[in-house]
Amino acid sequence: MLATPQIQKEIQRRRTFAIISHPDAGKTTLTEKLLYHGGVIHETGEVKGKSGTKAVTSDWMELERQKGISITSSVMTFDYDGLRVNLLDTPGHKDFSEDTYRVLMAVDSAAMLIDVAKGVEERTKKLYEVCRLRKIPIFTFVNKLDREGKDPLTLIDEVEKTLNMQCYPVTWPLGIGQRFRGIYNRLTKEIWIYDQRREEVEDYKIIPFEKGKDDAILYDYLDKESADQVIEELDLIEGALPPFDVNEFLNGQISPVTFGSAKQNFGVDTFLQFFTKYAPGPQPRHTKDDKEIDPLDAKFTGFVFKIQANMDRRHRDRIAFIRICSGKFERGMKVQHSRLERELRLSYSSQFVAADKETVDEAYAGDIVGVGDTGNFAIGDCVSTSGKVQFEDIPKFAPELFGRLSVRDALKRQKMQEALQHLSEEGAIQLFIEPHVGAQDPIIGAVGELQFEVLMHRLKDEYNLEVKLNRLPYSVARWPRTADGKPVTELKGGANMFRDLIDNPVVLVNQEWDLNWLKRENPDVEFQTSISRA
Ligand code: GDP
Repeated sequence: MLATPQIQKEIQRRRTFAIISHPDAGKTTLTEKLLYHGGVIHETGEVKGKSGTKAVTSDWMELERQKGISITSSVMTFDYDGLRVNLLDTPGHKDFSEDTYRVLMAVDSAAMLIDVAKGVEERTKKLYEVCRLRKIPIFTFVNKLDREGKDPLTLIDEVEKTLNMQCYPVTWPLGIGQRFRGIYNRLTKEIWIYDQRREEVEDYKIIPFEKGKDDAILYDYLDKESADQVIEELDLIEGALPPFDVNEFLNGQISPVTFGSAKQNFGVDTFLQFFTKYAPGPQPRHTKDDKEIDPLDAKFTGFVFKIQANMDRRHRDRIAFIRICSGKFERGMKVQHSRLERELRLSYSSQFVAADKETVDEAYAGDIVGVGDTGNFAIGDCVSTSGKVQFEDIPKFAPELFGRLSVRDALKRQKMQEALQHLSEEGAIQLFIEPHVGAQDPIIGAVGELQFEVLMHRLKDEYNLEVKLNRLPYSVARWPRTADGKPVTELKGGANMFRDLIDNPVVLVNQEWDLNWLKRENPDVEFQTSISRA
């Protein structure tokens, strides 16, 4: 059964997306400008948490500020042109790729940000592949046009070749670096001339422009060399490209490209206009039993893609972030928790707008709500107002770094154990329990070095625990399973067997060579690199 027309209307105006990029490409700066255009913040410079200004949730952790990187992912919501836009932040650093993968499970499209001087960088490529795997439509924003960089044709060629995907330039830059004056929007046939004298200006002139007929206009705003170059480039692309086909974009076959400078607020508005016109609304979701759930369904469904403890230090709270997949959410509603097979009330709920957390009473498919959690939720858990629903798994990465923590004050061991439990439920680290030692002294696994650093920082900052990390020589974790997916608890060949947080057997070995040995000794066993949480 479909939801009421009123609810359907609300669902259809949701747009949920994430920005993916290599660190330093300008994600924070672009986010800030988008929030600015969305009317959420009124002065730029708020996002990075510069002293004296407000920090948005994407930078709430002190360590993030110290390191200047974005570690935790958060959600920012704004209205633009009648749409409700949810922008999910993704950590750029590779050590937090697991977090980013989870976020990409919760969006319907992505914007890939590329530095014009650097082109396609390693992280961009990895994240792009995840989007491709999920068939998420991808916008491309080429940033930092106010700096010298690759010329736009070379850059587009590089994106196409490196990512094996066709690009469709929606806008074209008028000049680059010192000579960057504006943008030509090929779809609306307008040129936007920006005022470069001040940073972060809103002033621009919009002039109708038809290639071939109005070329002379370019010479009024650009130096001769730049104008000649733009005309030559436009001749090339206009002749070579078929018209924009929105279906090819929605199927993930082409990526529309816009150019700009996030820092100078050039081209962000043209991007937003294009985004709001073409970004897909909430998409249907597949369940494990191969059904598809329509976002317009009357039944409320959703899944937890992120858990965050201690956002508010005073209350030791824990928030489970739910992506709503269908229907309407109401505060206090009763839902079926699929994994626990019981009913639960979603009572305390919030949405995030910049640094402010606001209570929400209702939300719709496409939205993200944070619900208060007392330990019922794990990443990947599904909730629904009618019957059991299990969406596709959220991947979990095999850690490659391992260690054990020791706390100086023996009386604090219990506290450390609790803290580790919380943080591993959040997905910040993974815990492995040795059968003879037990949960009081677990082994900790991380995907990247920074995860350990954040762990130590948070143990001190949030739990007041001074601990020492002793590294262990393991570098590979695998979940042994039979061909039909049953956990294998004993292996031949002297394996070090452990248990993960949800009691699955795991084997830890020092290097790939040891794993190959185990594979030879146990030819019937599959050594899985990840398993689902739920
Ligand atoms: P993130 O790591 O991707 O979040 O990147 P940031 O937004 O923190 O930007 C990294 C650096 O690039 C900062 O010094 C920004 O001021 C700068 N930056 C971002 N966008 C632009 C741009 O359009 N032009 C120039 N010149 N610098 C930019």
